[in-house]
Amino acid sequence: MKFLKLVVVFSTLFSALTVLAQKPMRFMAVTIDDLPVVSTRKDLKNRQEITRKLLAHVTKAKVPAIGFVNENKLYAGEKRDEAQIDLLRSWLDSNLELGNHTFSHVNIANVPLEKYKDEILKGEIITKELLQAKGKRPRYFRHPFLWTGLSLKTKSDLGEFLSAHNYTIAPVTIDNSDWIFARAYDNAFDKGDQKLMKQIGAAYVPYMEAKMDYWERQSVKIFNREIKQILLIHANFINSDYFDDLARMMKKRNYKFVSLEEALRDEAYQLPDNFVRRNGISWLHRWALDKGRENILPDEPKTPDFVLKAAGVESE
Ligand SMILES: [Zn+2]
Repeated sequence: MKFLKLVVVFSTLFSALTVLAQKPMRFMAVTIDDLPVVSTRKDLKNRQEITRKLLAHVTKAKVPAIGFVNENKLYAGEKRDEAQIDLLRSWLDSNLELGNHTFSHVNIANVPLEKYKDEILKGEIITKELLQAKGKRPRYFRHPFLWTGLSLKTKSDLGEFLSAHNYTIAPVTIDNSDWIFARAYDNAFDKGDQKLMKQIGAAYVPYMEAKMDYWERQSVKIFNREIKQILLIHANFINSDYFDDLARMMKKRNYKFVSLEEALRDEAYQLPDNFVRRNGISWLHRWALDKGRENILPDEPKTPDFVLKAAGVESE
């Protein structure tokens, strides 16, 4: 009897210690760009299929994701295309949030600021209407290509415009080249090359995991801790097939999925974005550059050559 009690005490102690030894929780907001779909598969049936599969994965993994919309994809010529708009309705029916990614995915460096502002207003009309029907409104803005402006003046003008229209900027920390994998995957599909599709898919999740490891370390380098991260991926074909595996990988790394709102409560995001170069980079690198170039970790994982080749992309 005494022995049994001892066993119970020890096993309780052991499980308490195991809990203590577990890795600390990490936090990830998942943001998905270029809605409703970005793919060479432009016909409605394929777009519906991509949306259905992506949303099934997102819902199953209980990810409170936000999708950023390009409303130019919701028109056929001048007319609204209700079948495309229905794709967005399914995002809202899955209890996900929608944000603004400009009407036609313009780069802030290529148009006058006034035109860029018009693109933001033109890009919210249908999304606003859909959100209103649910008692909500668009709250977040994501810059196409993550290009945020070539001068601090442009950035602060845009910042004022965005707050006047109740928008918060959606930064990205876990930046990656999912779009190159997506292009390669689309190309392989268009060529009917199933074997290449499988190879690209098999390389995709380990690549994303290596990127996460990199950005986790980059966060520690700047903040001495892992901040609540914000992942950028796209509403594309490869994610409609592999988001399941991505989510599993993130859970294994002890990530808890949180909303963008929750992630932005991390005080890291109070730091300014002073980056004005001709590029779109992770906010972790923007903050690292502010502290001095030596704070940028050198070993950022690269897209494998065979994926670049299959995508027809020269370099990242
Ligand atoms: Zn985009």
